[in-house]
Amino acid sequence: MKRAAFFLAMTAAFSTAQAKDTELNLYSARHYQTDEALYADFTKQTGIKINRIEGKEDELLERLKNEGASSPADVFITVDASRLAKADELGLFAPVKSKAIESRVPANLRADTWLAFSTRARVFVINPALVKAADVQSYGDLANPKLKGQVCSRSGAHPYNISLLASIIAHSDEARAEAWARGVVQNFARTPKGGDTDQIKGVAAGECGVAIANSYYVARILRSEKPEDKKLASQFQVVWPEQASGLGAHINVSGGGLLKTAPHKEAAVKFLEYLASDSAQKYFADGNNEWPVVASVKVDNPALKAMGPFKADALPVAQLANHAATAQKVFDRAGWK
Ligand code: FE
Repeated sequence: MKRAAFFLAMTAAFSTAQAKDTELNLYSARHYQTDEALYADFTKQTGIKINRIEGKEDELLERLKNEGASSPADVFITVDASRLAKADELGLFAPVKSKAIESRVPANLRADTWLAFSTRARVFVINPALVKAADVQSYGDLANPKLKGQVCSRSGAHPYNISLLASIIAHSDEARAEAWARGVVQNFARTPKGGDTDQIKGVAAGECGVAIANSYYVARILRSEKPEDKKLASQFQVVWPEQASGLGAHINVSGGGLLKTAPHKEAAVKFLEYLASDSAQKYFADGNNEWPVVASVKVDNPALKAMGPFKADALPVAQLANHAATAQKVFDRAGWK
């Protein structure tokens, strides 16, 4: 009798412990140091400890696939809408019904199974001595023969460029997207190499007149106190694409979702809701120089302010993934290596 009573008591204690998660396992492909403060804030607010596994985007996806139903992961966060869609396609995410998320995150920045928590724009950086802002008003302008030998870009195999081209396909069609990609390749100042910051440096050094870069790389330089960055910042200008056309600049996202096999579902949903909260949204804006997805959140970041207000492309970011495979083929055919 005593044994049975003890066993029952233990079972009860165990189920209570399970009902209230005290920890959360996060797989993250974001490598920004400033995210640490955000995780600490979540733990402070909820008492839920975050165990973090960081890795490269595709490695983490592979790991989740291999771990299958026995994966300890609760939440997967990554950058680029196509990668989120890929995780979704692999059936890794479970839908989350949350009034907090639905009311705060705009519909074009979420899917049924994931949400974006910050946005970044793909902007032009010009060397005003080489290229006039008036000549680079739309992405299409980069293919204008007038810019021959002036364009710097990272590889066409990189998700940032694939998503940009996917948006161009979504707004026009594959043939026109290919003509554009071929035109840009004709205008390259050099073979694609390095990341976005290397393209900005190429512009500053006068190796190219215009480059495409994600906004947070630009903002990072604008905010830096390092003398070499201050010098860099004085050597380029930012031009917002697609403002005159009314289409709006191409944006991409950081986002995440609840994993179907999550052992700590309750904590996972709390964390996703936290990502859309005012305090988390401010961390993204201040920490990694990204724009909050929640419209009411005020950005207090001098670099983002300096880049000014802009119109963003309203295309639902989930749609970028529909054209990602085509975009990669188009880049290959166009020779955008
Ligand atoms: Fe990046």
